[in-house]
Amino acid sequence: KYILAIESSCDETSVAVVSLENDLVSNVVASQILSHKRFGGVVPEVASRHHVEQIISCMEEAMTAASVTVEDLEAVAVTEGPGLVGALLIGISAAKAFAWANELPLIPVNHMAGHIYAASYVKPLEFPLMALLVSGGHTELVYMPEHGEYKIIGETRDDAAGEAYDKVGRVLGLEYPSGKEIDELAHQGNDTFNFPRAMIKEDNLDFSFSGLKSAFINTVHNAEQKNETLDRLDLAASFQASVVEVLTKKTLDACGEYPVKQLVVAGGVAANKGLRQGLTDAFTTSFPNVELIIPPLNLCGDNAGMIGAAALVEYKKNHLAGWDLNGNPGLSL
Ligand code: ATP
Ligand code: MG
Ligand code: FE
Repeated sequence: KYILAIESSCDETSVAVVSLENDLVSNVVASQILSHKRFGGVVPEVASRHHVEQIISCMEEAMTAASVTVEDLEAVAVTEGPGLVGALLIGISAAKAFAWANELPLIPVNHMAGHIYAASYVKPLEFPLMALLVSGGHTELVYMPEHGEYKIIGETRDDAAGEAYDKVGRVLGLEYPSGKEIDELAHQGNDTFNFPRAMIKEDNLDFSFSGLKSAFINTVHNAEQKNETLDRLDLAASFQASVVEVLTKKTLDACGEYPVKQLVVAGGVAANKGLRQGLTDAFTTSFPNVELIIPPLNLCGDNAGMIGAAALVEYKKNHLAGWDLNGNPGLSL
């Protein structure tokens, strides 16, 4: 038997088929990036309209690709939040209608739990576990004593890491979302600017990225006023060096404070090559006994496969939604 999982919290319409044994059988992702690029960010109304257009065909495609029919399904899972309310509601409405018509239970899933559970397709999760959640809207350290139990032990005081990447990218004239491109530029440059490492010396597990963003933007603007040209590769490398150093340091601190068996790195920014390398190096040296799990790139960004994996945990706990399920834009772990 299988779960049909639906994700529509932001700018990806995605539907997946996941077996009750946590095998990812199909994972269809329809991205809307091209429509949002020219606005330099996700436009909520545009996102909702795209979800409406895509959701049914994504559901059909996911079932066809998995070679399953409605009779093979055990439940329908859907992202409840966090995300854009209009976008969430499209997935939720489709999930409700499909579940109701086919007399299937409905499983509500937290999008951020989904990002963490993407790692379960790489290796079975073992607890206690630490998760570094780095995405477009979140930067959090999450301690998990058990399946489905989340304790946020550190978080950003201002911008999320992905948000900082996207804002800095705009100043460099890159298209939205610019995380991937900055990552590529960074690998060809050097950390010559020495941007601030915010809160790195503070005795807590919180982050801050707005100071780094401002330092970057001021550097670029000052140079423009003096008609100087700065090396874009070095700018990107310097920005990334600061982000990776802070994320790595705080994650090491967290694992020192809370002994864990595994470290999961999750969310769109987990696709960052510099971060993947930095954490791998740091953990092999400092915590050789902590198993590091970083999902493959296609499971780092938003996808319904991760929602299906997190749904299995909720389903086992019999955590189901009623037909009055609503989108919850500010849902936290
Ligand atoms: P949230 O999950 O917090 O609700 P979201 O779903 O919009 O937000 P994700 O889709 O998980 O966020 O991640 C998107 C973010 O990841 C964007 O900010 C993008 O720039 C960033 N990103 C993607 N690839 C990379 C990379 N290689 N390096 C750095 N950032 C990246
Ligand atoms: Mg996205
Ligand atoms: Fe996300």
